Order: sequence, then C-alpha cells, then structure tokens
Amino acid sequence: EFRALVSISNPGGPHARSTKHGVHRGMSSVTIPPPACMLRPLEAPFRYLFGPGPSNVPPRVLAAGGRPIIGHMHSEMFGIMNDIKKGIQYAFQTSNNMTLAMSGSGHTAMECALFNIVEPGESVLVAINGIWGERVAEIAERMGAKVHTLVKTPGGHFTNAEIEQALAKHKPVLFFLTHGESSAGLVHPVDGVGDTCHKYNCLLLVDSVASLGAAPLLMDQQNIDILYTGSQKALNAPPGTAPISFSERACHKMFNRKTKPVSYLLDMTHLSNYWGNDGKPERTYHHTGPVSGFFALRESLAILAETGLENSWKHHTEVAEYFWKGLEDLGLKLFIKDKDLRLPSVTTIAIPEGYNWKELLAYIMKHHRIEFAGGLGPSVGMLLRIGLMGYNCNKANAAMALAALEDALKQLTNCTKK
Ligand code: PMP
Repeated sequence: EFRALVSISNPGGPHARSTKHGVHRGMSSVTIPPPACMLRPLEAPFRYLFGPGPSNVPPRVLAAGGRPIIGHMHSEMFGIMNDIKKGIQYAFQTSNNMTLAMSGSGHTAMECALFNIVEPGESVLVAINGIWGERVAEIAERMGAKVHTLVKTPGGHFTNAEIEQALAKHKPVLFFLTHGESSAGLVHPVDGVGDTCHKYNCLLLVDSVASLGAAPLLMDQQNIDILYTGSQKALNAPPGTAPISFSERACHKMFNRKTKPVSYLLDMTHLSNYWGNDGKPERTYHHTGPVSGFFALRESLAILAETGLENSWKHHTEVAEYFWKGLEDLGLKLFIKDKDLRLPSVTTIAIPEGYNWKELLAYIMKHHRIEFAGGLGPSVGMLLRIGLMGYNCNKANAAMALAALEDALKQLTNCTKK
C-alpha cells in the first residue's frame, strides 16, 4: 500500500532507494525537522484559577485521571460508566435512565440536546440574558430550527408570566434557559418553568454548567426535561466531559423523530447504547470515550456524593457571602444587585470607575498568579468575573482574591485611571 502511494505521488521519491525488497523511502525523506519546542519539556505553570472555569483540580481527581488506561469497552470501564451515571443522577437529583456523560466540553452537551431533540423547521424558544442563550440560538439556527428569543440585558431575568406569554405565542418544541449565567453572574429561578413549558407541550432544556453543585437545582422536582453541566467548574474535574440527562418526555420526542440528527457523534441512539441505557444486552462500538477524563469525572462526582449536595450548596453560599461583603468593603459594586439572584460560584463586579479592566486582570495575573476574567459576549467591558467553585471555594481563597484586588486597585490607581 505504502509503495503504491509513493509511486503515484512521486515515482520513486527524491530519496528512494532500490533494494532487493523493492523501492522504499529512506529516513532522509523527512523534510520537516522535529520542532524545537517538542524537544523541550512541557511547561504548565501553577495558577490560581479563580475565573469562571476551569477551576483548579484537587490532587485526588488529578490522580484518578493519571491512572493507567483501560479499554473503553472493557467490562471494568462499563462499571465505571455505570458509577458515573449514578453520580450524575445524584448530582442532578434525577432518576432518569437516560443519563450519561458526553465525550466533550459543555458545548458538546448543548449541541447534543439541540441536535437530538429538535428537527429542522421546528420552533425553539431561547432565553437570552448573557452569552449562553446567544450560543444556543446560534446552534439551533445552524441546524435549521426556527429560533425565537426572549431577550434581556446581561443580568436580567425572566418572570414565569413572560415565559408563558412567549410559549403561547411561538409554540416551540423546546425552551432553553441558563440556570447559572456565568457571563452575568446570575442564578435564574427555575421553579414553575417546567410546568409552564409542559402546559404548552414544550420541553425544558436547562444549562447548569456554571451552577451545578453550587446552587440548588432539582431536575425531577423542577420538571426539567434536559439538563447538562460541565466537568470543569464546581465539579473540579479537568475540562472535556459533560454530564447530561433526558426525561422520559424528552426521550419520547428524540426517539420518535422523522429525520436523523445531523451529528453522528452526538446521536443519542448510539450514545444510549454506549452508556448501556437502551436496554440492549450488547454495547457496540460507537466512538472511543475519553477514558482518563471519565476516571477523573467519576472521582469528582464521588467527592460531591461524599460532601453531600446540600452541604455543597450551603458552603458555596457562605463563602460567596463572605466574598461579597469583602468586595463591598473595598468599595466595589456587585453587578447583580439582588442577593438571591447572585450565582454563588461566579461573582460579577462592575468595573470600578476609572480603571481599565484588562490592566487590572493583567496586574493580578502577573503579581498574584491569579486568574480572574472580564465579561463574555454581551457583558464584555461591563464587569469582572471571579469564580470560587468546588475545591477553590473557601474563605482563604476568597481572602486571597480580595487582597489581590485591593493591591491592584491601589497600584493602578494613579498610572492607569482614565
Ligand atoms: N454554559 C455555561 C453557563 C458556561 O459557563 C460554559 C463555560 N464557560 C458553557 C456553557 C460552555 O462550556 P464549555 O466551555 O465546557 O464548552
């Protein structure tokens, strides 16, 4: 095969040698040398990841991810995937059978939900109050859905009456809502939304990437049809896996489609078999799951189960309240005025008057090795974002973040005030 390729592209090749076994390329045919960077060791500095994610990964989770690989179809791996499924059911508070982890980041789960639930030409309604609604609207539009939006400026939220009005008007098959809007720092109320959606024969899709484990969310009790999250926020696993769960209602819609989903990789008929959710005795190869990522995800879900969801929510709120008070003592203004609507995992503060937000972030990174973030999408230039989630969520880290901010505000005051 190789010989045939060589002779078609360049008969004999520039460095071909004739041997009694035939023509083949010698080592000297390599024209691109090994890159110098690849001959140096990997450099990945330690940083305090106090932005909106990824957050620092505890040694226990790192160690789990560093264990020797096993085959993605070995029975032990299926056992680990079954554990992950149970861990997600606990974290989501759901008894949905169709619960699994996507091989990919939060966006993979977002696309999986839309691609499987919605068929081209169907209507979806998207609540936009930050970047995540914008993203979902764009994904839905790309796959040929009719997209209707409910829009507020970043940090705004929607009443159930507003949602109901839009459902009645547009009759969508799916309504999308972000629980933890990490680009604005808002935790959106979810009570009653599922029931309202069902009244209009619409499914409720909720994004909990930034809020899971940090703010209360109860998939079954709140009648959420599809819920997803990410591994790299309060769960403190490395980025790259994304838990997702589908209700019976959602399964009914997605397994009775007229058309195949646009993505083979994200097709739930295949994924449900890979995760042992389809009741079939055999699991057949679909794709090679991220084995190390699943090890790490399992460990992070184990930590959440040991801690207890309610303890985790309470802990995030207590640390966040301590942090918010410290920010106000520094004279900073919290972007979300109503305490009950503030996301405990990602705090947003208005950019202090007279400061350049990029300079503040650069100074804090350089002098304190701490990552904070600016706004994202529609909130760029409006706010700073500071995440204290999971493993990073404690008063010592909150105090460290406050000291870094205080220092930056002092040091930059004369030179960069504009
Ligand atoms: N939704 C929310 C609320 C998020 O905060 C993020 C990540 N910042 C995502 C979705 C997308 O997740 P990922 O970057 O893992 O694809």
